[in-house]
Amino acid sequence: MRYTHAEIREMLSAQGGALEELFQRAARVKAEGVGNSVYLRGLIEYSNICRKNCLYCGIRSGNVSCVRYTLSDDAVLGAVRQAYEQGYGSVVLQGGENISETHISAVERLVREIARLSNGTLGVTLSFGEQSLDTYRRWRDAGAHRYLLRIESSDRELYGRIHPQDSLHSYDARVQALHDLRASGYQVGTGVMIGLPFQTLDHLAADLLFMQEMDIDMCGMGPYVVSKNTPLEVYAGELMSEQKRFLLTLRMIAVLRLMMPDINIAATTALQAIDPEGRLKAIRCGANVVMPNLTPEEVRGNYTLYNNKPLSLDSQILEAGVGYRERGDSLHYRRRVGQYVKKTDMTVKKITLIAGNPEIKV
Ligand code: SF4
Repeated sequence: MRYTHAEIREMLSAQGGALEELFQRAARVKAEGVGNSVYLRGLIEYSNICRKNCLYCGIRSGNVSCVRYTLSDDAVLGAVRQAYEQGYGSVVLQGGENISETHISAVERLVREIARLSNGTLGVTLSFGEQSLDTYRRWRDAGAHRYLLRIESSDRELYGRIHPQDSLHSYDARVQALHDLRASGYQVGTGVMIGLPFQTLDHLAADLLFMQEMDIDMCGMGPYVVSKNTPLEVYAGELMSEQKRFLLTLRMIAVLRLMMPDINIAATTALQAIDPEGRLKAIRCGANVVMPNLTPEEVRGNYTLYNNKPLSLDSQILEAGVGYRERGDSLHYRRRVGQYVKKTDMTVKKITLIAGNPEIKV
């Protein structure tokens, strides 16, 4: 659905009955566009080593108090096995931006191993920042399906205010990377932070139009959560309240669902950092993906992009209807590459939990 900037801005300001109606409309459009299943992506935070210095990020290279780590292959594959055995359809390997050959070949090797141990059934999403076209292709050839690269803000000026002013943090390079990922055959995801310092509703409306214009397949966007030891921390007192950032994020999800009915939209952990039912509320107004954290406990504390990160998946999401053993590929992507999408790809599933094990009832 196409909306003007002014119409989007109005929906992002909705209150009371209009807000309720927006959320209900988004829920209906989601049911028709992608069905009501929630797809699980087991999140593995592979490494917090990053060459960049984004002004909002807790693992920025300039944060000397951050203890750096990279998981061993055994640790990654142990978490992948756990995901596979628990019925997850996909895993996400995420890490800082590292362009060393050691890192690139390690990710390539891990992606091949994941395909081998799951007989090619597990979906693999990567999120390792901007890389060369050659690297994207190597990882795609190894078996990765999806790539997440958040633009964080589609407004060139705001992007410049939340990143250092140097060639390593170039807005144009970021946009080009999204084009390169699409050309390399990935399902491409992007997203923004909501409630940043200096950000207005006009910026956010433009962000949604940017995502539609880029014809993305997936989106992960969440409220800006202040991270300690970051330059943007000094603006913490000037931000809108966490509750307002949270509600604005729900509106962004709902409006994006109306604009792009068949993409995958994540209910991000940043939502849960503010509201204990954050992800569930996002699912009710348009999101259809959750990413439970499977990173080994001993390093989780060192992957702090922001503070108060939640760790587990709550039972209410499981009860909402989870697509176990389903990759949950973006239907938008499948249509744009000419794959046939059956009605059963949008089957609504109900599950019950028996002694901790999911039993699927179709
Ligand atoms: S946001 Fe990403 S690229 Fe920027 S410092 Fe953090 S991990 Fe690195």
